[in-house]
Amino acid sequence: MTIYSHSRLSTFEKCPLSYKYKYLDKIKPEIPFIGIEAYMGSTVHEVLEYLYRRQKKMPDAEIPLILLLDKYESLWNENWSDDVKIVKEGMTKEDYFLQGKKILADYYKNHQPFDSEKTLSVEERVDVNIEGFKIMGFIDRIAVNNETGNLEIHDYKTSGRLPQISDLQNDRQLALYQIGARKKYPEYNENEAEVIYHYLRFNEEFRFQKTDEEIQAVKNNVVDLIQTIELSSWENNFKPCVSSLCRWCEFSTICPAFQQNAGKII
Ligand code: SF4
Repeated sequence: MTIYSHSRLSTFEKCPLSYKYKYLDKIKPEIPFIGIEAYMGSTVHEVLEYLYRRQKKMPDAEIPLILLLDKYESLWNENWSDDVKIVKEGMTKEDYFLQGKKILADYYKNHQPFDSEKTLSVEERVDVNIEGFKIMGFIDRIAVNNETGNLEIHDYKTSGRLPQISDLQNDRQLALYQIGARKKYPEYNENEAEVIYHYLRFNEEFRFQKTDEEIQAVKNNVVDLIQTIELSSWENNFKPCVSSLCRWCEFSTICPAFQQNAGKII
């Protein structure tokens, strides 16, 4: 049975043909590279993971900022490879390195001494079963708020753009994660659950409590979408969806629709 994920569902929504290339044909892009923004983001994520794993293990131990910044620097250097590319003109490797450092310093300033919640897990896999369909994902951090007792689902983003509030309210990923976290930690089901988006570059966080109706709407939407995907698979019918996003598609070199329309894509 297919196990879905939020990114798998999103790929189909953006372009069914790219879904086929990626998940069914399992085609690997010819020139794999990682954008430096993503590299910086994953390094920051790793440091936050380190921070909360350490804090979970030694809740009373002080965590100095320098420890996190040293960890960031060593991860940055250890994982660096020639596959990391800078696309934005005028930006350097050093600029991105310092951006990540600032993100961590700001986060530290806002959250130390890290005692407002108790961390239950970091980078935890959750599995959700909706009407027999399986969806999995990894939650950056699950915690319990020490004051309210609410279950918290934390998601860390290093995106350079702030979202619309309505996009967050309707976000499928964290709604699915909320269902998964509730299932994983049923002992907190008496309390509310909150999803918390940390937009680290902007030093902003957004908190939402998804209502039962919102959760049910997400479930209905996911079931409809998976049924559409499975019908496409059964009919072997995956239509291309040509748009400006094709310019960043890893399959543009093999996609006939892109080749035919390349001149018209702006
Ligand atoms: S290039 Fe465009 S149409 Fe072709 S697979 Fe990628 S996103 Fe779809």
